[in-house]
Amino acid sequence: MSKVIGIDLGTTNCCVSVMEGGAVQIIPNKEGGRTMPSVVGFTEKGERLVGQIAKRQAVTNSSNTLYAVKRLIGRKFDSPEVEKMREVVPFEIVEAPNGDAHIRAVNEVHSPPEISAIVLQRLKQSAEEFLGDIVTEAIITVPAYFDDMQRQATRDAGKIAGLTVERIINEPTAAALAYGFDNNKSEKIVVYDLGGGTFDITILEINDGVFEVLSTSGNTFLGGEDFDQRIIDWLVDGFKEENGIDLRQDRLALQRLKEGAERAKCELSSVSETTINLPFVAADASGPKHVNAVLTREKFEELVSDLVESTVEPCQKALWDAKLQPEDIDKIILVGGQTRSPIVAKTVEEVFGKPPSSEINPDEVVAMGAAIQGGVLAGDIKDIVLLDVLPLSLGLETRGGLFVKLIERNSTIPLRNTMTFTTVVDNQQTVEIHILQGEREIASGNRSLGKFELVGIPPADRGIPQIDVTFEVDASGIVSVSAKDKMTGLEQAMQVTPSSGLAPDEIESLILEAKKSAEVDRQARDAIMTRNTVSTLIENTRKSLIEFGKDLPKEDQVEIKTVLAEAEKDIAEGDPEKMREAQARVEEVAGKLSDALMSLA
Ligand code: AMP
Repeated sequence: MSKVIGIDLGTTNCCVSVMEGGAVQIIPNKEGGRTMPSVVGFTEKGERLVGQIAKRQAVTNSSNTLYAVKRLIGRKFDSPEVEKMREVVPFEIVEAPNGDAHIRAVNEVHSPPEISAIVLQRLKQSAEEFLGDIVTEAIITVPAYFDDMQRQATRDAGKIAGLTVERIINEPTAAALAYGFDNNKSEKIVVYDLGGGTFDITILEINDGVFEVLSTSGNTFLGGEDFDQRIIDWLVDGFKEENGIDLRQDRLALQRLKEGAERAKCELSSVSETTINLPFVAADASGPKHVNAVLTREKFEELVSDLVESTVEPCQKALWDAKLQPEDIDKIILVGGQTRSPIVAKTVEEVFGKPPSSEINPDEVVAMGAAIQGGVLAGDIKDIVLLDVLPLSLGLETRGGLFVKLIERNSTIPLRNTMTFTTVVDNQQTVEIHILQGEREIASGNRSLGKFELVGIPPADRGIPQIDVTFEVDASGIVSVSAKDKMTGLEQAMQVTPSSGLAPDEIESLILEAKKSAEVDRQARDAIMTRNTVSTLIENTRKSLIEFGKDLPKEDQVEIKTVLAEAEKDIAEGDPEKMREAQARVEEVAGKLSDALMSLA
């Protein structure tokens, strides 16, 4: 097998790495940088610019310079995240016929995987020049909270770039791999990853070369870009107050403000005060206007404090899910450029009660981990096992609209689980397999991932056919489901390709919503279970009555029929209390029926 490269396809910057002679090497790009801006520019002449050179022309060609495209990958145009992005970027985001968010540049529409593919292609080229060999295989990292749709879109981007994506791995898991590669210790580590556009928190246990993810949480719509925006807003408001001009309407000015804001933010990681100086930003009748603002670290921290604070809850949730206390954590690794702001490290220390480790370069660690996984797949590295997790439970809709979980969230992947189901009506020849993802007990409260039918089940009484439903989640977190009728061996399968992906924030709110709705769901579930029990009871009693009832006295037959009819009415009305009473009455007459039959026998 040829070399498998490891790619960190970041929102803001990307990095490529490879295993060479048992060590991880970061591959430098043409400009000599070890990371490259994830920026693609299109010029009027039809040229494509990638990386640093594209970023440089952003000021003069802002509507054709595309950045933060990772925020759009696998997303629908009308999702709140895309709406938010449309407000701040100078390029045009448009709706594709299938509802996805696409981008227009120099009068041409591109999908996000296409743009990401341009970046990936450049990284592939750098790797080929570095290795002096063709590269066709890659490991690409994604935020742990990327759903099936976003993972598949990332894989598509690789395909477009001419790469076979051997595995998609989670960024924090990759970081832990890089950290623990030469480290034989047994420990529990937290990876706190705040990059340009996403936030992930992952807790792992490393034990004898086994990397096991215990829990993961995050928000894929929080990152350095939001920090920049806070500074931009502050500058725009100050400028308006001073000069009465609203720079929000001026794309070119906004682009310059963005650059100035990001530069100031990065400087404030090492100095306590900086100046943002942007001459000739605007002009009015009185002449040209300039931005000249002093930003202190204290003011910056005030502007972004709620953003940093919003990372605390996911940290606590991840600890809770891993059943750990802050003091159980041995090490905290910071990943992503935005963790260089001191307020981030301070907040992390407050949550976990110890300072984060600073031994690994946060910009390179993810790509290094991806390269190590590449080395494992190529067979160059032995003794490392990576056990990742699924971010949200998977299951099926069953009778009455209940959700049956087949795989719990935070389960280790790859995995496979089979459960046996049956039919609910006599002679049922088709079963619909409706696959859902979420935490609610009621199917309609979860996200539908897809449906398929198993047809041709031989006629039989309900409850007799046995249908094995198997869920499989591969090591990249991609789901497939199959259903098999045990008697005939008939089988149907599908790979889940959700029609619209689960946004990570949606995952969070689904979990939250599920918690809030637990009581409502429990009552609804009880009602459905009672209805199911009573209708089975009615059905069976009626069958026995038809078969053996003719030997009973006429009045008993009438009584049983009446009780059954009334119980059916109660079921139709759906009041849980009445259904339980109906259950008791049906049980009573069913008992009478069997006593009478026994005495006749
Ligand atoms: P990543 O996605 O990991 O490349 O992170 C990029 C984000 O980190 C961008 O928002 C950068 O502005 C931010 N960043 C990079 N260097 C620094 C720094 N020294 N201080 C604060 N933020 C930084």
